[in-house]
Amino acid sequence: MQAVIIEEPGIYRVREIQYPVCPEEGLLIKVLACGLCGSDLRTLRSGHHRVKLPFTIGHEVSGRVVETGKKYTGPWKPGWNLAISPVVYCNECNFCQDGVFELCSDYRELAQTWPGGFAEYMAVPAEAVLNGTIQEIPEGTDPVHATIVEPLSSCVNAQEKGNVGLGDTVVIIGTGPIGTLHLQLARLRGARRVIVADIDDKRLEMIKEFHPDMLINPTETGLVEKVMEATGGYGADVVIAANSVSQTLVQAVEMAKKGGRILLFGGMPKDQSRPQVDMNTVHYNALHLLGTTIFAPRHNRIAMQLVVSGKIDAGKFISHIFPLEDFEEGARLALEGRARKVVFVSGS
Ligand SMILES: [Zn+2]
Ligand SMILES: [Zn+2]
Repeated sequence: MQAVIIEEPGIYRVREIQYPVCPEEGLLIKVLACGLCGSDLRTLRSGHHRVKLPFTIGHEVSGRVVETGKKYTGPWKPGWNLAISPVVYCNECNFCQDGVFELCSDYRELAQTWPGGFAEYMAVPAEAVLNGTIQEIPEGTDPVHATIVEPLSSCVNAQEKGNVGLGDTVVIIGTGPIGTLHLQLARLRGARRVIVADIDDKRLEMIKEFHPDMLINPTETGLVEKVMEATGGYGADVVIAANSVSQTLVQAVEMAKKGGRILLFGGMPKDQSRPQVDMNTVHYNALHLLGTTIFAPRHNRIAMQLVVSGKIDAGKFISHIFPLEDFEEGARLALEGRARKVVFVSGS
């Protein structure tokens, strides 16, 4: 079968490899579609500490069950379409025991511990069947659209923690795919006004389709000043840092309203994870700094409902669909920032 193999950081290509074997207690799926994520781009470029090369990544997967393992006892049958998010909870730590799966201290991921979905077929291990985040894709929902359930799940978790809601002015810094999902979600949750900021004009242009109330390019104007001006000097109720530039956090603290919430959504490069945030501002302005990562099965289910109902318009969000054999071309487009969301499909 064909699969994308990362040979070493920066070197990846579509190659013929052996079909995966169906795990005894797991599933074998034909990959129908697999989304390309910002974290994938980083792994393609510079590798990942949890990924041992050569390896196949791809964690936003829609697939059809083609085989079930001999000892598989789960509900899914050949022919069923599944949305397979990568997180596999340990189900043993205190957090899992308490049902706060998004805090699992020992979770693993498909496309890290096990090979991922930039391939024609993918083995779904027993661990993922038992403790993972797999859902049926309902009839009538395009499996290509279902690939966004995974990134959307993390956004659902973040905005739930940040309690984004009615009357809020929300600033989203970073208008890539994640920033764009946050924009739509903030609207759905009732935000009064959503302001987006990015230093990349191409991205600002792309997000216009989703009608933000205000766009700011901070290279042209001071971001903090602009937000303060737009909010009558009070600042934003919620600031979502949907990028990985640590300076953003310094600005987020400066532009948040008293009592405001700052959602730290993107991880920072290791050597830049200690920005010079004025903690006195956090203290005196009574700010809430909220870090979130991954999601619980509950968020994954909510995300699926948002896609199935069309409340999040996946078709509009996904900007490019490529056949898997054109992986390098699709990845290049995304790396150059010329695509919002690239999804790869393989022939049936
Ligand atoms: Zn992703
Ligand atoms: Zn756990």
